[in-house]
Amino acid sequence: MEEVTARGGVKNETCFQHAEFLAIQDALKDNNLYGELKGATMYVSCEPCPMCMGAILYEEFDRLVYGAKLEDSDKYYCPEVLISCEDIAKNIKNRKIEIVNMMRKEAVEVLKKAGENS
Ligand SMILES: [Zn+2]
Repeated sequence: MEEVTARGGVKNETCFQHAEFLAIQDALKDNNLYGELKGATMYVSCEPCPMCMGAILYEEFDRLVYGAKLEDSDKYYCPEVLISCEDIAKNIKNRKIEIVNMMRKEAVEVLKKAGENS
């Protein structure tokens, strides 16, 4: 059974307030899940940036599911470093992560609305 252990949303006050960082921090600190994210799945509406992908790999998530691609975010929401999460995952040794891209079209619509409101 899967259960939601933490949630995060983008806050643009500092570079460390990306949704993935906030969700990981919430899981580790607030829910006391240190060492327990190994094997978990991270669901995000947009492909993680390289910084967040590094954190996801560091915490040893088994699976990443995302919607919009970084190029979509770059086009509709905010400037991105366009290095795909798949490319980052290929370049780390001794860590395996399943990466699934789904519902891209729906996620792009969410990004467009967020871009219009920011
Ligand atoms: Zn990020």
